Formats: sequence, C-alpha cells, structure tokens
Amino acid sequence: MKRNRNVKIVATLGPSSSDAQTIRALFMAGADVFRLNMSHGSHQEIAARHALVRELERDTGQPIAILADLQGPKLRLGRFAEGAAELAEGAAFRLDLDPAPGNARRVCMPHPEIFSALKPGAALLINDGKLRLTVQGCSAEHADCQVVVGGVISDRKGVNVPDVVLPVRALSEKDRTDLEFACGLGVDWVALSFVQRAADVEEARTLIAGRAAIMAKIEKPAALNEIDAILAASDGLMVARGDLGVEMPVQAVPPIQKRLVRQARAAAKPVIVATQMLESMIESPMPTRAEVSDVATAIYEGADAIMLSAESAAGAYPVEAVQTMHNVALSVESDQTWREVINASRRIAHTSVADGIVAAAREIAETTDIKAICCFTESGSTAGKVARERPQVPIIALSPNPATLRRLCLTWGTHCVLTGQIKRFKSAVVSAAQGARALGIADKHDQIVVTAGVPFNVPGTTNILRVAPCDERLIYSAETE
Ligand code: PGA
Ligand code: MN
Repeated sequence: MKRNRNVKIVATLGPSSSDAQTIRALFMAGADVFRLNMSHGSHQEIAARHALVRELERDTGQPIAILADLQGPKLRLGRFAEGAAELAEGAAFRLDLDPAPGNARRVCMPHPEIFSALKPGAALLINDGKLRLTVQGCSAEHADCQVVVGGVISDRKGVNVPDVVLPVRALSEKDRTDLEFACGLGVDWVALSFVQRAADVEEARTLIAGRAAIMAKIEKPAALNEIDAILAASDGLMVARGDLGVEMPVQAVPPIQKRLVRQARAAAKPVIVATQMLESMIESPMPTRAEVSDVATAIYEGADAIMLSAESAAGAYPVEAVQTMHNVALSVESDQTWREVINASRRIAHTSVADGIVAAAREIAETTDIKAICCFTESGSTAGKVARERPQVPIIALSPNPATLRRLCLTWGTHCVLTGQIKRFKSAVVSAAQGARALGIADKHDQIVVTAGVPFNVPGTTNILRVAPCDERLIYSAETE
C-alpha cells in the first residue's frame, strides 16, 4: 500500500491500541512507525505489541518501523503518608534521602547524585512544571526549598531541574535492561530521553552495537548547548516538546522546533515533532483548530515525522487521531505555499559525490517528466540525502537490507522496496522500474531517475545517476551492462 503524502506519522502504542485489530486500523489510517514507550507497560505487554506489528508487517508486505523509547533518567519524588500534600506559595519544603513517607514539609527524592549538583537559586519543577520550588540551601543529602508556585504534590511525581547539567548518565539501570530487551525483540529505532551530551549517545551506541538506529530526544537546555555534536552522534532527533516546555519557557519551544527541524534536515537525518499535537483528541473525536494548525506548522517546516503520544496510546480516539494527521498532511502538501517554503529552506551543502548526485536527481525531476527518484541504498544514507532535497516526486528507497528499509519508514517522502542482492547496474534499473510500477507510482510509459553506487554492496558509494524507462524491454535494449 502506497501512502500519498511525504510527512510520516508515528503512533505510540498503549492500552488503547494493543490488539491486532486496532494496530491494523492505525496502520490503515496512516501510521508509518509504531512507538513502544518503555516508561509504561510491562515487558510482556511491550513484547506482545512488538509481535503484533511484525505480524502486520508480514501481512502487508510493507516495512514498518518500531521505535522503542527509553524512559531515561527521569527524576521522581518518593511517596507521601497520605498520597499527597498541599504546598502553599512561600512555604518552606525540604527534599531529602529519608525514605520515610512525606508530608507538607518534606519528601524523599531518591536520587543522591542530584543533591550534590544542586545550587542555591536552582529551580525544581514538579509534575510537568505545575509546581515550582527554588533551592535556598543544600547539602549532599538534602535541599531546602521555597515554594514559588504551590499546589497539590503527590506520590512519584516527576521532577525537572532545568538549570543544572545533571551528573547522571543518559541510561539508568532500568534503561539498560529495557534497551537490551528492546534490541532483543528487534526494534528498529531506540529513542534516548533527556540526552545532555554527545557522550550519552555514544554510550548507547556501544550498547546497541548496530542493532538499532538512535534517536536523541531533545528536551533539556543542556542538549541545545551541544546540539551540533549530539546531532552528529545520532541517527535522528525528536523535538520532545513535553519536557522541553517544562525545562524551558513554553514560548521558547516553537523557535527551537524550527531550528531543530532545519538542522536535522541539513544533516540528512530524520526529525520527529512530538507531544500534544492533538492532545484534545484523547477525549474528543474532533481536534481543536489550534491543534490542526500545530500539526500543519510542523509539516510546513518540513519535519520528517509527526507523532501521537497519549492520543493513540491511551485516548478514546486513536484511529481518528491518525486520520486527522493524515488529512492535515494531504491538505498542507497540496498547498503551493508549502512547496515554496520547502524549496526556500533547502540548503546547498554539497560536499560529496552522493550530495551532488541527489541534488542533480532532484533537479532532473523538476525539469522533466520523471515519476520517481529511485535510490539504491545500503545503509540508508543516500535515501536520507535524497529526502533532504525534499523533491517533488516520490522517493523510492531500494535495498537488500530489511533493517535499512524499516529505519527509513521515518524518513520524509520515502517509499521502501526490498530487493535481492544486486550485482549489475542493469538489474538495479529493472528492480527500480518494477518497484515504481508495483507501488503505482509509474507505469510502462514513464521515466524514472535511478541512483546507485557501483560496485554494489559497499555503503556510501553512490556514483551513478541514470534517467531510465520503466519498461523492461527498453531497459534491456538501452543498457549495455
Ligand atoms: P516523553 O517524551 O513522552 O517520553 O516524555 C516526549 C516529550 O517529552 O515531549
Ligand atoms: Mn520527555
């Protein structure tokens, strides 16, 4: 089944979407990638969702990506004697390491490494920023705080510490266990939460050992200070607006989103815009106008993918939420202004032969009647470069490597075709023509652009561009080898 849009849709699976029928309905409505959130659900539940997606993939014959999202070093409070307490503005409140149940004067924050990194004046944000404390004084075992914004504080609520580079590794013990589990299942992407430095990504890369691609979730101010190195170390980015909007003033999020989308595109790596895109659809079958506009904005900006979290995982209208994203995408991508914006934000950053070839492929497709750019891609890197051009014809990625094709499900405008091992350029052209016809993108009378690297099976060698007919007889009579 061919999608008739460029932007990809990521749907998080959860209690509202854990049966085969709903997962299939999400896919049919337009989900290209399924996200398994390791913060919620048992390993057994996650394994069951993973298996259902793979079953669907077998049924449809179409690569589908699975992204495992690690919780990361999320700080949490301990418990309260009465489950909750009320903090008044201006009151004193202590965080400490005493596991005794908390009250309106103190509670445990069971993260000893954090206390030594805190400084007077640092802000502590609790429960997605709903409560705000300021550190007055601290030691290695406690922090005395003043309540700046009060409210009800309750068991196990999350704590954000935006002003401090935390001396924690990006992967907690739980993350390490979850990572091994997810790689064992065979996920295609692993997302790392609360990345602070490139070294966090490198550490994960060593553990993953090539079994999955790595997405750095950008949700800490510290990550923004080191974004070039983090992007270079990662295979993709997520604009994780939920925590980002807690760690930074909410109004800082839109410019950061725009910058990250451009930077990832320039690096030819996929970028997801995530969180609260259709939040009201958790409870309502209709999105708000503002949400529709937000989804549209991400598409106008040229994001590779847009994501549903609770809307598809725990909401009452998971399928409708995917449908809404799909419909907004069709509307935006048929707008001439969208094409103008996409073209105007293209950067010329040609440093390799492959960069030159993909730019030429895009120009040829603009100049003549070409139905698709078909690229042979071993590692996926050439397909990423073609997608960076944001061409006006579909991109068809061809690879003998199923893992590469699954990863490319996140990449803008890319359709995936599995091939056998290709040895000669002529058979590559034939496979591309057959793939384009099978997808319904071209017919026998059409022309396509084919790019490949010769010799085959060596990543990063794209060095050939050919404008080819889609009719095998013409290919055989035109090609000499
Ligand atoms: P989360 O990440 O849903 O795992 O917190 C996304 C975000 O923070 O926006
Ligand atoms: Mn987050």
